[in-house]
Amino acid sequence: MSNDLSQYELSAARKMDAEDPIPSRRDDFHIPMHQGNEAIYFTGNSLGLQPKGAREALETELDDWARFGVEGHFQAKYPWVSYHERFQQGLMHLVGAKETEVVAMNALTVNLHLLLVSFYRPEGNRKKVICEAKAFPSDQYALASQVRFHGGVPEEDIIEVAPKQGSHIIEEADIEAAISACGDELALVMIGGVQYFTGQWMDMERIARAAHNVGAMCGFDLAHAVGNVPMRLHDWNIDFACWCSYKYLNSGPGAVAGAFVHERHISDPTIPRFEGWWGHDAKRRFLMEPRFVSMDTAEAWQLSNAPVMNMAIHAVALQQFTTADINELREKSLRLTSYLEKGVMQIAEYSGSFIEIITPSDPNRRGCQLSLVAHDHGKQLFEDLTEAGVIVDWREPNVIRMAPVPLYNTFEDIARFIQVLKKSIR
Ligand SMILES: *Cc1c(COP(=O)(O)O)cnc(C)c1O
Repeated sequence: MSNDLSQYELSAARKMDAEDPIPSRRDDFHIPMHQGNEAIYFTGNSLGLQPKGAREALETELDDWARFGVEGHFQAKYPWVSYHERFQQGLMHLVGAKETEVVAMNALTVNLHLLLVSFYRPEGNRKKVICEAKAFPSDQYALASQVRFHGGVPEEDIIEVAPKQGSHIIEEADIEAAISACGDELALVMIGGVQYFTGQWMDMERIARAAHNVGAMCGFDLAHAVGNVPMRLHDWNIDFACWCSYKYLNSGPGAVAGAFVHERHISDPTIPRFEGWWGHDAKRRFLMEPRFVSMDTAEAWQLSNAPVMNMAIHAVALQQFTTADINELREKSLRLTSYLEKGVMQIAEYSGSFIEIITPSDPNRRGCQLSLVAHDHGKQLFEDLTEAGVIVDWREPNVIRMAPVPLYNTFEDIARFIQVLKKSIR
């Protein structure tokens, strides 16, 4: 092999780890093992690793439940009655919102539906929805079922914007063109902030502006964006957004999700909501009044009392982001991903057309994830990687997604991966 891969010697990588201005938080996480060694874990985009504080946080709640029973609602270390209020500070910084605009609740697809109830309200000719082609299936199902719920026809009312022929990137200009073409028939633009398959980061502000120009609402699914890239949802004028917390937020399988509602919509009485008692004015919640009096924050969208066991882990996981700034993590993330990209490109060059990166090469248009297409022997490559202790994810027919996460992945992880890739491809 003629390429210079000396940057990917373990010693060089370890030096980069030691000298990086943003220290790794790797020791705060449990790293899965493979045959006695730490695995090379690149699937934090699918399920983030367990923070070491998770067990103790759960035990605190179990102990309080054992000690206090129902009185734990008020007597627990973190009283359960207001438990969800623990998250607003962490979440507001992550998504760039005001404290009153974010809430931790439910699961992602549930929140998507609840927000669509409020923000997808087709009326007359204004009933079309624009989304990205090949959106995550759950998002497609949610949108199509909402359209049908309103008496519409998904095949006619949902317009998917696809990459240009031969490309994998969805151009914002094409989204703008689709928005203009719909004009006053457009009710909603609903897009993944970071596309789950290719890792493309959309220009969310630009898309929201185009949607608003024709009088439509604009929301984002931030499953792959939150904890990955810094955002400013409030300033970008995004109408609503939702995310899950088990990917980059490391809050565990099925973790409580989150939602954002822009403050200009929160107390707008013309916006309908599905309501439950946890959305009722907290000061009067236990008066058990028959008539709903809404919170004047995003908490108005809450339905049920807090799933404390699940949220206990979310609280520990979010501490990582209150003690490390997302903008700093992003800087480190840029370094890690570009190191990975360069190594893969060198091997791609050496192997001819065997592997190709379909994630945008412009770092401003992506988060940490790179998606590779393995053209000929993809499944074999995936199996070789797995055998060597590299945990990446495989998407049919031939895509390998990998996400070096700045909290716990290292330059050494990447160097080890590049060595395995080199050997496998040879
Ligand atoms: C991970 C992911 C989901 C998963 O939805 P759940 O309701 O959490 O099961 C949905 N949409 C996108 C874009 C995702 O990346």
